[in-house]
This record gives sequence, C-alpha cells and structure tokens, in this order.
Amino acid sequence: MRIGVMGGSFDPIHNGHLVAASEAAHRFGLDRVIFSPTGEAYHKSADDRAPAEVRYLMTVVATASDPRFHVTRVDIDRTGPTFTVDTLRDLRAELESGGLGADHEWFFITGADALAEILGWRDPDRILEAAHLVGVTRPGHRLADPGLPSGRVSLIEVPALSISSTDIRARVREGRPIRYLVPTGVANLIAKHRLYHGVVGSPA
Ligand code: NAP
Repeated sequence: MRIGVMGGSFDPIHNGHLVAASEAAHRFGLDRVIFSPTGEAYHKSADDRAPAEVRYLMTVVATASDPRFHVTRVDIDRTGPTFTVDTLRDLRAELESGGLGADHEWFFITGADALAEILGWRDPDRILEAAHLVGVTRPGHRLADPGLPSGRVSLIEVPALSISSTDIRARVREGRPIRYLVPTGVANLIAKHRLYHGVVGSPA
C-alpha cells in the first residue's frame, strides 16, 4: 500500500487540512491517509489550546465520512513530546500487528513551514529514509529552503490552506463565525467543550 501520514496538532482540525490530505492522496496515489494528532504540546501555551484527547476526538469526527481517512492514537498515547521518527516507527508496527504487513511506501504529510525545520528534528536521516516528505502550503507562500534532498521532498500548494488553526482559535475567542471553515461536527465539539478561551463562536 501507499500510505500517507498526516501529522499535525489539529488544534482544531479544519477544512484546509482535509483538502490538503485529499490533494496529497490524489497526487501520490495513496491508498489511505492516517491522521496523527500530536501528543500534549509542552512548548505551546495551554490556555489557548485543546487537550490532546479532544483534538483526537475532533480529528475522528472530521475524517469519519471519508473511507480513505483514518486516525491513529500513536502520538496521543506516547508520553513526552512528539517526534516524527517515533510516529513513523509506531505506525509501521501498528499496521503490521493489524495484519496489514510491513511492506508499504510511506509519505509523511505536514505543513511546509513545519517541514522546513526538519533538519533540526530528531533523527532526520531516519525520517528521510522511512518516508517521502510532502509539505503542503497555501499558494504564493514563500518557503525557507531547508536544504533537503530534492528526490525525497515534495511541495503541494493548496488554496484551502488560507484557513489556519490560529485564525480559527482567534475567531472563536472573538465570537466571529467558523461555519464552513471547519466541519460541523468540529464546530459542535468546540462549542460543547468551550475550547479556545471558553468563548463560544456565534452559531456555527
Ligand atoms: P505547527 O508548528 O503547529 O504548525 C506549523 C505550520 O504548519 C502552521 O501553519 C500549521 O497550520 C501548519 N500545519 C501543521 N500541520 C499541518 C498539516 N498536517 N497540514 C497542513 N498544515 C499543517 O506544527 P505542528 O502541528 O506542531 O507539527 C506538525 C507535524 O510535524 C507533527 O506531526 C509534529 O509531530 C511534527 N514535528 C516533529 C518534530 C520532531 O520530530 N522533532 C518537530 C516539530 C514538528 P495549522 O495550524 O492550520 O495546522
């Protein structure tokens, strides 16, 4: 199988993420895309952020209707910061123990900004060996050149990525609408759990 791993905090997941995953699936002929929400983010300020379990729940709800999309708990269940080298190792083991074998072609998909930092991540050589890297970004966005080997990295421009999680959190905080920017189920969970400063946006 050709397997995409969509790594991100998904705080919250939005329609831009879903379009990006769908574009990557089409571009690289992926059989499935596994969304992997990061574990608790120790480096991000907690008052503006949703707990890992709620981010996981939002990701499950957002992806439920697409048969190509799956969600894994590997990064949620592992303690400590999320390192991509661990994500890929644990997912490979998860598929193998689920009877799907180990012989797959892997693609790690994430925001191009995040990917630009990869040489500073833990074990970049092992990540590049384990997966083809796919950076998704909005059109016209200029990227710093991280000096990555060209054959192992691709960039995809996705117009829907003008939607961002940062903007959605600000909208909720300020009482502006998030309808059509996130799936309805995600808007409902944001309201139900009073996420992002506990101020619920106007009717989503
Ligand atoms: P981030 O710094 O919160 O996000 C950076 C930018 O990338 C934001 O503009 C974000 O937009 C975008 N982005 C993030 N994930 C995306 C996705 N799947 N699709 C489209 N855009 C995305 O990055 P993060 O979410 O914490 O981390 C992204 C991934 O990189 C995770 O899987 C994480 O584990 C991995 N990572 C690994 C290491 C390491 O191994 N040392 C270090 C850092 C990150 P939105 O806010 O709209 O999503």
